[in-house]
Amino acid sequence: MSTSVRIIHTQADAQAELERQRAVKRASYARRKERMMNDAEYREQELQRWKIQRDQKRKTIEDDPLHINARNDADRMTKVRRMARETQNTLDAQERENMIEKVHQRYSSYNFSDLMSFRISELDAQFADLQVKEQQWPLPAPDITPMYKKYLTHTYKLGQNIICACCGCISHDIMEFEVVPQSYGPLRHLRIPEDINIPFDFSCGIDLLDQNHILIDKLGITQDKCIYLCRVCHNQLSKDHQPSEALANFHWVGPIPEELRDLTWIEELLIAQVHVCGSIVRLGQCNNASSFFGIKGHVIFLPQDSTHLIDLLLMSLACLSDMVKVVWTGKSKPNRSRLRS
Ligand SMILES: [Zn+2]
Repeated sequence: MSTSVRIIHTQADAQAELERQRAVKRASYARRKERMMNDAEYREQELQRWKIQRDQKRKTIEDDPLHINARNDADRMTKVRRMARETQNTLDAQERENMIEKVHQRYSSYNFSDLMSFRISELDAQFADLQVKEQQWPLPAPDITPMYKKYLTHTYKLGQNIICACCGCISHDIMEFEVVPQSYGPLRHLRIPEDINIPFDFSCGIDLLDQNHILIDKLGITQDKCIYLCRVCHNQLSKDHQPSEALANFHWVGPIPEELRDLTWIEELLIAQVHVCGSIVRLGQCNNASSFFGIKGHVIFLPQDSTHLIDLLLMSLACLSDMVKVVWTGKSKPNRSRLRS
């Protein structure tokens, strides 16, 4: 190969120089190839020299710490996995032997023949008991008299309405009430001041209470002129507090006129002084008795002018849709039974 210095000025000169060097390499390769074909000794020297060069190159690559040898990594991982598998097999074999030993220790202590004989005698006793019951069947009916008395007692117990004279709540269990005499001192907290005008006569027929302007529910007075008080009201009064739910705490309603006593809830809606806006949703399946209702969003109380009812015999039914809406959501339409529930 020529080692003389060549000066290159243009791209054409560079291209020509590259072509010249390639031609020199091709000629050199052809000469060596021809010599290797004709000279066996030279051919052997060349092959040996190429082998040494390849080995040096491989060693240089393998010694590089940044070089990743995939084959070495794969061999190493295979070796690690094989060792782990052998260790696990050893542990499994030991555990299997231990389990066999435990099973042997546990069941060798039982005498299965005794166990079976005991179980069979137990089954025989049960079968004999069943035969006795079968012979005695039908069993005599229980005495229905105490059952009837018990039924009546519970029915009467729940069939009575007990009304709290303080707040007017209704219950049926006498155990939820306290009976106090009409001279019970804390009843003074149910007194209506003189300067408050109540537009109806709230006298209850008990002179002591009427003279002191005590406002109570007349239905909460017993036949012997004692007073029923629910637990909540009694607790508050016994602590010298006026119960927040007391009728005397501006919760009085007065006697309901005869014409309004049997109104349906829709009719009550039409004449109510306050209209309630809110969403009440039913949670869960309608057929499920344990499902309950919930309030969604806000509840707003709007005053309702019901004075125009004086001039009308009946409000139009079309107005009902403005007051009551029932919205159903879901995949299927509700049937009649679900609408009623
Ligand atoms: Zn009460």
